[in-house]
Amino acid sequence: MMREDFPILQKVIYGKYPLVYLDNAATTQKPRCVVDAMTEEYFNVNANVHRGVHFLSQQATDLHEASRETVRKFINAGKTSEIIFTRGTTESINLVATCFSDAFMKEGDEVIVSEMEHHSNIVSWQIAAQRKGIVLRVIPISDDGVLDIDAYKALFNERTKIVSCTHVSNVLGTVNPAGEIVRIAHEHGVPALIDGAQSTPHFAVDVQDLDCDFFAFSGHKIYGPTGVGVLYGKEEWLEKMPPYMGGGDMIKTVSFEGTTFNDLPYKFEAGTPDYIATTGLAKALDYVSSIGMDNIYRHEQELTEYAMSQLLKIDETVIFGPKDKHDAVISFQVGNIHHLDMGTLLDRLGIAVRTGHHCAEPLMRRLGIEGTCRASFALYNTKDDVDALVNGIRRIRQMF
Ligand code: PLP
Repeated sequence: MMREDFPILQKVIYGKYPLVYLDNAATTQKPRCVVDAMTEEYFNVNANVHRGVHFLSQQATDLHEASRETVRKFINAGKTSEIIFTRGTTESINLVATCFSDAFMKEGDEVIVSEMEHHSNIVSWQIAAQRKGIVLRVIPISDDGVLDIDAYKALFNERTKIVSCTHVSNVLGTVNPAGEIVRIAHEHGVPALIDGAQSTPHFAVDVQDLDCDFFAFSGHKIYGPTGVGVLYGKEEWLEKMPPYMGGGDMIKTVSFEGTTFNDLPYKFEAGTPDYIATTGLAKALDYVSSIGMDNIYRHEQELTEYAMSQLLKIDETVIFGPKDKHDAVISFQVGNIHHLDMGTLLDRLGIAVRTGHHCAEPLMRRLGIEGTCRASFALYNTKDDVDALVNGIRRIRQMF
């Protein structure tokens, strides 16, 4: 599907062609249209946004704000004022952890996260915990990587102030019931943040349907540029939260006696935004929309199911995570071959996978392992890629 749109896939590595790129959960490759749109803006439009009366500044501002509208439509948010541009999922979660805890949490209050979170959804709350004395409560998972919803319900008490949970695990491929997680949080009168870093690239997301209060994702994981991401937040919460950083754009008036803050979303966007990257992100979202998120989902599901069935034919192979409802991420272990050795040898065969703890050390501890080898799929991967991976693993297995 669309491989020709991605110039890097033509690259020859160690004399091997075509490149089998299976590290998409870490970052995706970029279609030419995304890079072209950014180059075009640098060469023909570039000027700082929001502050200029001159032609180029207005044109750049229009492009930047049009990108916000593209993002709004893509996740079906109600208003563009609820779309905050950040540097990525990490910054989006840190923003909420900092500003929400400042506004609404006091010592002893609790945030619920899960055992399968990426470090960004653990450490950002731990930093808030150090500042405010708040406490992290953790939803346990089953041995095959599914959230224990009854245990989740039992974690709530009068000190619970927010739930912050991933939509899809970047290690296990588990697709969490985000709508249910949000609904249960709301039944207890608290808001929920959903980390959409690994869901947005793979299937259609509707934040109004999920009814989540916050939603975070990264541009670079959905074929967009690095350095840009999104925080969606319901206006009712964003209005009540203090700004994250101070600087240009986020103010209305400044004096040494005091400052008034700008309206949403600018209150949370201090300084010059990466307006070239927002153009790239919008182009990437237009690109996947033109293919159709449902088509991308179907294609990747087919590949994932094929890969799981082929991998399980290799003796002594363990796949972590649920057997059904598995997103386009497969973490595996083959016999006692160390994941680093496996990743390094696959690389020599022209196959890029990720190895290690995948920024989820607590999850590794829960699974009783140090790390895994992880293959993750994107819209441009093919059955040939899966066959190359499986054949590569078979060859490496024979060497051990
Ligand atoms: N959350 C999840 C589930 C992720 O997989 C990742 C990145 O791998 C992140 C958060 C952090 O994303 P970023 O590094 O783009 O901020």
